[in-house]
Amino acid sequence: MKIIAFEVREDEKEDFIRQAKVLNIEVTCHKELLTMATVDWIKGYDGVTILGRSAIHSDILDAMKEYGIKYLATRTIGYNHIDIEYARKIGIRVSNSQYAPNGVAEYTVMLLLMSLRHYKQALFRGNVNDYSLQGLQGRELRNLTVGIIGTGKIGESVIRNLQGFGCKIIANDAYPKDSLTKMLTYVSLDELYKESDVISLHTPLLDSTYHMIDKNSLKKMKQGVVIINCARGELMSIPDIIEAVESEKIGALGLDVFEKEEGIYHHDLRSDIISNRDMAYLRQFPNVTMTQHMAFYTDAAVRSMVEGALYSLSDFYKKGESMYEIKR
Ligand code: NAD
Repeated sequence: MKIIAFEVREDEKEDFIRQAKVLNIEVTCHKELLTMATVDWIKGYDGVTILGRSAIHSDILDAMKEYGIKYLATRTIGYNHIDIEYARKIGIRVSNSQYAPNGVAEYTVMLLLMSLRHYKQALFRGNVNDYSLQGLQGRELRNLTVGIIGTGKIGESVIRNLQGFGCKIIANDAYPKDSLTKMLTYVSLDELYKESDVISLHTPLLDSTYHMIDKNSLKKMKQGVVIINCARGELMSIPDIIEAVESEKIGALGLDVFEKEEGIYHHDLRSDIISNRDMAYLRQFPNVTMTQHMAFYTDAAVRSMVEGALYSLSDFYKKGESMYEIKR
């Protein structure tokens, strides 16, 4: 079997080589995205793997079909960058990768603690020998209520990590889990907004979650609420978030993701002009900590992402099915 891999980072290459040997497949790696400009590279391959920056719309899917490609594996958990419905319609089978939620969950708790303890400011001040305390007083989790929106794999792992801190946990999910009810109380979204000192988002990007944090939901939240988003940037309306930071409705913000981060995050743009004004403006607030979509980025997760994609393409090809196929 011959596979072509797009968006391959240097740190993935070793895992690609090792796993390809295990599965006895031939893999060609490219650092470029899969776009209309590169789609003809897939001619002659049996399967394609990408990361989350290649936007796979109907035009690329049509070209894939024309070149006889039947299998596409994204090495990410999220798959909102692929037109799944259209792929299904034209008979292209798509899978995503799964990796342990621990890395993202640990990162979420780190951003949460950094936000509660003004760590960004403390770090910046130390770098210029400013060791003052003014403005750095934090809050203790044992006195706070944390609201988790989305108690899937990552949300659940965050909840388990928070157990040692003694905070009250409330949560909202369309599918509450009985197994979590000893650790938290499921509430309506409105109640979660009203009661939470800290809100952490862990839902996928869907029509129902797009801009769920906006003017209206912010209005229902506590003054000084801390919001953490390690899920998808599009869950928040950034103009509304900016207004809430300016008015101090939001006490602190920890973001690992950002709407329209594509083309910016994961690139070194030190000498470039960046045209995302909202990103630049939001970043400069002392109580806003932003990172470059890296919560997933651990050794264990990268290995699983590569392995998952190659196993999946190999299973599609050899067995006609893959346990990672996106069936929704
Ligand atoms: P998951 O599918 O296990 O869980 C998602 C949960 O959200 C489910 O329980 C689902 O019922 C719930 N949900 C869906 N719509 C909802 C709504 N409107 N209101 C409340 N709950 C809702 O997914 P996961 O593995 O926990 O990952 C969650 C998201 O995290 C992914 O979709 C991805 O976008 C993001 N993610 C980010 C990174 C990163 O590096 N920052 C890494 C991995 C995943």
